[in-house]
Amino acid sequence: MLKPLEQWSCDTCNRIIEKPEGGRVEWISSNGCASGFKIVHSSRQCSQYADHEFLADADLDEFRGVRGLIMLNLLLDAGPWDAAAPAGMAVTAAKDFVALVCRLHILYYEEARHSLPDVKVEGLFGGPLEPSPSTSEGLKAIIEGSRR
Ligand SMILES: [Zn+2]
Repeated sequence: MLKPLEQWSCDTCNRIIEKPEGGRVEWISSNGCASGFKIVHSSRQCSQYADHEFLADADLDEFRGVRGLIMLNLLLDAGPWDAAAPAGMAVTAAKDFVALVCRLHILYYEEARHSLPDVKVEGLFGGPLEPSPSTSEGLKAIIEGSRR
């Protein structure tokens, strides 16, 4: 099991990024638009955009915790403290961006995300008091259910 919010699966090689210092977040930044967000090992061979003209990237560790949420928000908008600043990037694929935020900030999301399409496991989310797949408890149940 991945250590939640400390380990990730590399989008290129699918191996575990053992600690935040070993990973990078990369995306394409072009004409004020950001797209194609990936979490990868820091090595050049795992970069999906190493040779891309519009590669943007940063250490994965910079996107963790409260500081990381601020960094992610800054990609979208400079914030209320600088009203004169232009808006940040237009995220062309909001689903990609939301998935990145979930992967970096929601307990168990990273490991459960590949099982989310199969979440209709009978009995897993049956009643009103059961965890839902939108909670960390639900995501943990998905992980445990996929191992049965
Ligand atoms: Zn890798």
